[in-house]
Amino acid sequence: MSGEKVAIITGSTSGIGLSCAEVMAENGINIALHGLMSDDEGNKLAAEMAEKYGIKTLFDGANLADPASIKAFMARVHKEMGRIDILVNNAGIQHTESLHDFPDDKWDAIIAINLSSVFHTTKYAVPVMRKQGSGRIVNIASVHGLVGSANKSAYVAAKHGVVGLTKVTALENAEHGITANAICPGWVDTPLLQKQIQAHADANGLPYDEAKRSIVTTKQPVPEMADPRMIGEFIMYLSSDHASAISGAALPIDGGWTAQ
Ligand code: NAD
Repeated sequence: MSGEKVAIITGSTSGIGLSCAEVMAENGINIALHGLMSDDEGNKLAAEMAEKYGIKTLFDGANLADPASIKAFMARVHKEMGRIDILVNNAGIQHTESLHDFPDDKWDAIIAINLSSVFHTTKYAVPVMRKQGSGRIVNIASVHGLVGSANKSAYVAAKHGVVGLTKVTALENAEHGITANAICPGWVDTPLLQKQIQAHADANGLPYDEAKRSIVTTKQPVPEMADPRMIGEFIMYLSSDHASAISGAALPIDGGWTAQ
């Protein structure tokens, strides 16, 4: 893929998004980095990546809970970088609590950040990609876009929504050279999950490593978490010219979780 391509990766200051940015940078793709980080830190990260890989970068700290900020972010990338070839909707948050106790504000935030933001970025990107005659949209859903787990009502609802939205995006744009796919990871070793493991360790008086193994093997036959880099490599493949026949799919990387 040529260095003229531009990728927008939401939530690329951490975890899966950051690994994805590194893989794409290694492939010479210009990158709009994004996430909740100060402008100073974000601009530093963007400058380091630009220098290391000889690509163009920018950083934006748009709050994905706010549609106006999302629109401004997308317009800024388009104006400053000239194209939008790849959109990776990756940012996400989690809150675990039983449905009957689930705080309303957490529900609203998870639906806004994990689901509605995907609608808003995609709505902006699709006309640009159609004009260019090609595009790749990769939405980071979750196994929780395919199956449920107790205490994750908002997250499961949002991720099932992302899988559905991905299918519609794929169907509407199939004749415009645009593919849309959802990736459905199981456990991935990132700050988002590390918080859940620590909470499990604290609640059950377990050492962190024991809590980690217990959380992973409760759901996954493969007793190891995926490394974020594994997800980044797969996003890169789906974003490449080789993947033009894959569209509208929800693809698990889940250590066998959903095979059961
Ligand atoms: P992470 O916590 O490491 O990173 C999340 C990113 O989202 C950060 O860059 C953060 O700044 C950004 N973000 C959060 N709220 C935001 C907001 N309001 N506005 C803008 N940016 C915001 O998480 P991760 O584990 O790398 O998760 C990335 C994606 O993968 C999420 O959608 C998550 O649901 C999904 N996922 C993760 C796992 C896992 O085990 N870690 C499994 C399945 C799916």
